[in-house]
Amino acid sequence: MPGKIAGVCDKCGEEQPIWELTKCHMCGKTACRRCASFAYGRYFCSNQCAQYFFYGEDEGEGEADTT
Ligand SMILES: [Zn+2]
Ligand SMILES: [Zn+2]
Repeated sequence: MPGKIAGVCDKCGEEQPIWELTKCHMCGKTACRRCASFAYGRYFCSNQCAQYFFYGEDEGEGEADTT
């Protein structure tokens, strides 16, 4: 079967087999397993993306419970 079985990590720029690569849930960048951060059950290209994903775009809202 033709097809690429390698891709390039957006973080370190090295070519890696696709099974070593993961896509950031936040920004969609490709990151190899060494560069990626695993957080909240997902892979991210960086801790910043993980934080961003977790805290969301709006901050300080939505924490209050409904009465
Ligand atoms: Zn990498
Ligand atoms: Zn990212």
